[in-house]
Amino acid sequence: MTIPPSASPRPLAQPGPEGGPTRPFAPPTVPRLQLAGAAKKFGEVIAVYPMDLEVRAGEFLVLLGPSGCGKTTTLRMLAGLEKPSQGSVLMDGVDVTGMRPGDRDMAFVFQMFSLYPHMTVLENVAFPLRAQGLPASEAERRAADLLRQMRLQPLAHLRPSKLSGGDQQRVGLARALIRTQLRAPKAFLMDEPLGTLDGALREETRTALRTAHNQSGATTVFVTHDQDEAMSLADRIAVMREGKILQLDTPRAIYDQPADLFVADFVGSPGMNLFPARRQGDVAVLSALPLTIHFAADLDAPEDVASRATGPTGAVGASSRNPGVTQAGNSAANQPGDQGPCWLGVRPQNVILSETGAPCRVQHTESLGSHNLLTLRHAEGLMKAWLPAGVRFDDGATVCVSFLASGCRWFDGVHGKAQNWRTVEVECRATA
Ligand code: ATP
Repeated sequence: MTIPPSASPRPLAQPGPEGGPTRPFAPPTVPRLQLAGAAKKFGEVIAVYPMDLEVRAGEFLVLLGPSGCGKTTTLRMLAGLEKPSQGSVLMDGVDVTGMRPGDRDMAFVFQMFSLYPHMTVLENVAFPLRAQGLPASEAERRAADLLRQMRLQPLAHLRPSKLSGGDQQRVGLARALIRTQLRAPKAFLMDEPLGTLDGALREETRTALRTAHNQSGATTVFVTHDQDEAMSLADRIAVMREGKILQLDTPRAIYDQPADLFVADFVGSPGMNLFPARRQGDVAVLSALPLTIHFAADLDAPEDVASRATGPTGAVGASSRNPGVTQAGNSAANQPGDQGPCWLGVRPQNVILSETGAPCRVQHTESLGSHNLLTLRHAEGLMKAWLPAGVRFDDGATVCVSFLASGCRWFDGVHGKAQNWRTVEVECRATA
């Protein structure tokens, strides 16, 4: 049975404003990976809608999205571990859809690694080098070096059964990464490899992983639901939802110019503050706060940022954190740039405290070390604002807020797609 195309057939390449990988060029043997209309169905469940995706040679691409959105299935199709229900998989333009995973020269790294139980940690990590013909002493010297870098040296002589789950995971990752020292695989495909690690260990392992990628130059596809991880590791991020890619771009572009309400809400911790608004010519009026936003006069032909980023997408709906587009998008006749409902998105760092701003009630101030996070209550819910460390307000106090004009992002009220309306002024209306 043919899977209907998603509402958004996507172009193959999505060059971001910051360009691609951090290396100027990748070694010639490093492949470009592509999905061309590849889709996957399990019974009646459509895990991935027909998808066009290009992973550039040598880049570190992260598939990011909530649980069940089809990240793993997408990765497994690239790996050859899952055969697409339709469409194809290409390496450097050559159709490899029918090629066995073992013949693709890719390394797979999963959350649950199976280590050889009869070998020590050192022997486990040295094993891939020995299998490639390196003498045992040299293989173990290099393995010991890597263990030291990853702070696993104290475990070198233990067997896997003596390790915690997190340590097993890091040893498994070390065993995968050591392959980059000799004859690196052409690509690394990683599915939540840092899944059970926390805190400093997670950060250190992340650094080791990115360093290994930079050294090997191998094309890397990495799956995670952790947007901090995605932002810190990726050359480009594909944000997925319900079997579709919503946006594919550099971390900065995704953070600064989210293609729709879902991405605005999902990326960033906390996500964007989202406010329903009503557009009236060259101003928009917020209902949650007595703020009126003025647009530049040259607004008559607004560019649709979401279309530029991903091609036309289907409607996006509510997430746990945002109130959903349907409330603002209740006018089917609404056209972007015309009269009607829309959404304003403002990152917490673009909320400013201003004597001439709109009054809000302080709900809570959280100390986060380098800065404080202020939660404010407005007429329709809560919003977040960053404060310098040390600045706090009493719960229940009234503060006045405004927004940096350059930090205002707009989304249409029907599909929640980004619009590049240029904000010039944020004005506080007099309240009765
Ligand atoms: P998670 O982060 O929770 O691993 P994911 O984004 O990686 O999620 P997938 O594992 O790709 O998502 O699953 C996408 C959808 O396909 C889900 O609804 C899942 O239940 C379904 N699915 C995945 N694999 C199978 C399978 N082998 N049989 C049936 N359904 C499956």
